[in-house]
Amino acid sequence: MTVPFLDLKAQYDAIKPEVDRAMQSVLDQTDFIMGEDIYAFETAFAAACGRRHCVATSSGTSALELVLRAHGIGPGDEVITTPHTFIATTEAITAVGATIRWVDIDPVTYTINPLLVEAAITSHTKAILPVHLYGQPAGMDELLSIAVRHGLHVIEDAAQAHLAEYHGKTVPIGGTACFSFYPGKNLGAFGDAGCVVTDDADVADKVRRLTNHGRNQEKYEHPIEGFGHRMDTLQAAVLSTKLPHLASWTAARRQVAARYNAGLASTGLTLPAEPEAVKAVYHLYVIRTPNRDALRAHLKSQGIATGIHYPLPLHLQPAYAHLGFKRGDFPATEAAAESILSLPVYPELSASSQDAVIETIHAFFSH
Ligand SMILES: *Cc1c(COP(=O)(O)O)cnc(C)c1O
Repeated sequence: MTVPFLDLKAQYDAIKPEVDRAMQSVLDQTDFIMGEDIYAFETAFAAACGRRHCVATSSGTSALELVLRAHGIGPGDEVITTPHTFIATTEAITAVGATIRWVDIDPVTYTINPLLVEAAITSHTKAILPVHLYGQPAGMDELLSIAVRHGLHVIEDAAQAHLAEYHGKTVPIGGTACFSFYPGKNLGAFGDAGCVVTDDADVADKVRRLTNHGRNQEKYEHPIEGFGHRMDTLQAAVLSTKLPHLASWTAARRQVAARYNAGLASTGLTLPAEPEAVKAVYHLYVIRTPNRDALRAHLKSQGIATGIHYPLPLHLQPAYAHLGFKRGDFPATEAAAESILSLPVYPELSASSQDAVIETIHAFFSH
C-alpha cells in the first residue's frame, strides 16, 4: 500500500461539480480582479472566524507583510517570533525593513515559549508574531498579557490554523491573524491566496488599500503607494465553495489524529500534546523520536510518505547567516528539528491507510 503525504486530488474529486461550477461562473462573468466572489468570501470567512473583517490577499506571505505595514512597523522596529516556522513568517518582517527577534519554542507544543518572550523585549519591540504551528494555537493567554504590559501588537500567523480554537474561541485569539490558502493548507485554493482577519476596521482598511496599489475607490487616485497583492476572483470562488466543508474536514483531521494517538500510544514515540485550552486542527500530525531518520526511511520503504516541518531552523539557514546566529542559540528548536516527523494527515485519508501507518511504525519498533 502507498500512502501519500497529501492527496489534493481526492479532495478535488469529492467537490468537483460544485467547484467547477463556481469557477465557470467567474469565467462567464470575467470579473477576474475584485469580482463579487472576493467580497462574498471575505464576508463568509470573517464570519467563520467570528470576526468583523477579512481582507483577501494574494498569499499568506503578503498578508503577513501588509498587516505589519498596516501597523506602521518598519525600519528600526523589532518583531518577536520563533525560528521554528516556515520562512514566510520572517520574510515578512524583513520585507517591511524591521528586525527579527527570535525566541525559542516550548518543546512540548512547538509554539513560541511565552516564558522567554519578555527577555527579548527592547525599547524597539513593536509586535509579537506567534505562529500557530501545525494547527495548534500558541500560548495566547500569556502572550496577550505580556503584550498589554509592554504595549505591543500581537499579530498571529495562522497559516496552519484555520478554525483552531483556544478556550473555545476561534483564531484569531488576539485582534488580528494572517491566513494562507496555499493549496496544501487546511483550506486551500487552486494556487496562491491568503487573507488578514481582524476586528480592527483601521487595520482592515489599510491592508485593503495596500493590496490594491494604495488606491481609493476612485480607480486612479492613490493617496499612498501599495502593491499588487489582491486575491484572484477565481481563488475566492474556489475558497467560497470549500469553506462550508471546512468544519467537517477539520473534524476528519481530528479523527485521524485520535486514531494515530490511540494506535501509537504503546510505541514510546512522543505524540502531539494538545493543551487543555486548545482545539488543534492538525494541519500536521507531528511525532518525535530519536530514531527519526531510520523510522522515516522504514516508512518510505513501505510506501508511506512523511515530512519534516522544519528540518533546518531559520536561525541556521543560509538566508540568515548574516544575522550571526549559531547552533546552540535556540536549543528547543534545534532538538525538535532533529527528531520531529510529520505523518500523513488529511480529511480524505482512509482508515486502512491510517492503520497501515500505525502498523508500519509498530513493525519498525518491534525489530
Ligand atoms: C504557508 C505558511 C505561510 C505562507 O503562506 P503562503 O500562502 O504560502 O504565502 C506563512 N506562515 C506559515 C507558518 C505557513 O505555514
